[in-house]
Amino acid sequence: MNTVLLLGPPGAGKGTVAEALVEKGYTHVSTGDLLREQIRLETPLGIEIKRLMDNGQFVPDDVVVGMIRGLLEAATDRQKFLFDGFPRTLAQAEKFDELLQSVAGVIEEVILLECPEAVIVERLSGRRTCGKCGTVYHVKYNPSSVTDVCDIEGCKLTQRPDDNAETIKNRIEVYKERTAPLIAFYQAKNLIHSIDATQSIDVVRSAALERLG
Ligand code: ADP
Ligand code: AMP
Repeated sequence: MNTVLLLGPPGAGKGTVAEALVEKGYTHVSTGDLLREQIRLETPLGIEIKRLMDNGQFVPDDVVVGMIRGLLEAATDRQKFLFDGFPRTLAQAEKFDELLQSVAGVIEEVILLECPEAVIVERLSGRRTCGKCGTVYHVKYNPSSVTDVCDIEGCKLTQRPDDNAETIKNRIEVYKERTAPLIAFYQAKNLIHSIDATQSIDVVRSAALERLG
């Protein structure tokens, strides 16, 4: 089993790149999407997740790792996964290594999307999402044909509750403190490939596609 990880701050464009990489046969796994599904289902876990997410805090490692464990155990040997937003802490990265060993999986590559803070804030503030198909737009950089209407589903686009100024600030701080150390962790394993994510969507997507052959 092969896996590719997309690493980078919130808003760097991980989901946007992932939309393109699925063409290469990867199964896209966004832990953010999996967690939002729990919120939508209003499970007891979902209620707790919403509280944390709305504050820009991480969901506990064991919850997220448990989801990934279930997914890997149910997968076939030939499946290729693209992880977006996981792992996000050193503890998750270490657990992930153990899980991969147990299913004879490997990390092919860690694609690091490098993006400065000012760009992130602008991207997250202008992000709009389709609640039905999950397509991600940006009011300026990737607008829908009709303002605030999904091109595919024709329904109204929404803004994520955690994409407000206060929560964006918290998420950036949490990224710096808890996720940025993963760069050194994967650099030591020689797995990091960096892409300048300030370039246009097409350029960033092409760079990632090229990298994965
Ligand atoms: P992440 O998954 O890393 O949080 P997204 O893929 O959701 O980030 O992108 C955040 C916002 O920035 C979205 O509105 C998206 O349309 C926009 N975006 C993504 N990549 C680029 C880019 N290279 N240039 C301009 N805007 C981008
Ligand atoms: P994302 O959709 O990747 O921007 O994630 C949105 C939110 O989901 C994050 O701010 C966290 O609250 C939570 N989340 C997503 N992935 C993880 C993870 N791997 N570990 C902990 N929390 C996560």
